[in-house]
Amino acid sequence: MPVPRTLIAGNWKMHGTVADAVALARAVVAGSAGLPADLLICPPVVHLLAVAPAVSGSAVGLGAQDCHAAGKGAHTGDVSAGMLRDAGAAWVILGHSERRADHAETDAQVAAKAAAAMAAGLCPIVCVGETLAQREAGEAEAVVAGQLAGSLPPGFAEAGGVVAYEPVWAIGTGLTPTEGDIRAMHARLRAEVLGLCGPAGGGVRLLYGGSVKPGNAAAILALPEVNGALVGGAALVAADFLAIAAAA
Ligand code: PEP
Repeated sequence: MPVPRTLIAGNWKMHGTVADAVALARAVVAGSAGLPADLLICPPVVHLLAVAPAVSGSAVGLGAQDCHAAGKGAHTGDVSAGMLRDAGAAWVILGHSERRADHAETDAQVAAKAAAAMAAGLCPIVCVGETLAQREAGEAEAVVAGQLAGSLPPGFAEAGGVVAYEPVWAIGTGLTPTEGDIRAMHARLRAEVLGLCGPAGGGVRLLYGGSVKPGNAAAILALPEVNGALVGGAALVAADFLAIAAAA
């Protein structure tokens, strides 16, 4: 199986105005030519419709940050995968640790959301990662393997599914695991994904996320089985996001 092309995905979280989002998307598109990676931006859901025309016809993909597992119904405040597709998204981040923590999302719920996303024609990006306490207890790989087993629905690899390994303690903190720890975790991730998805799991892109910046991107992206990055804070500055992609 050939090494999948690098994906640099920006998670904009709950930041900015519509005008900010459109300006940031335009700046990313303007700098996207000739980069050695696929680019994806994931604005707040309420900004998708405004951002979609800014990325239309460009190589920059558009994604959302969550969806509901149901196709429609009485779910006040929620958004279905089909609605995201209709608004122009082609991707959706699922099971981010902030959603697992803030909304008590379980692996089973993440798997149901991923299945709904796939049914709607979206590529799911399923996030997994251990807490600091779990890493210090030597449980990081086992925790992540368990999350993967519970969060990936059948057909995940064939639908273009992506896995993002994001140690909870590295998100937004400026801390990152050692290169050796990332290497070991990604080797484990690949083995687990192959076990869960079969040979098609070799094509699942494995992103690292957690305090990726222009200064550390090249070293992280060069590690074996690291097929890209999920970027939070640095994705809010077009020059930083593009510099991370350029380092691929
Ligand atoms: C994230 O929230 O997905 C993330 C990786 O954030 P940051 O890059 O800011 O650590």
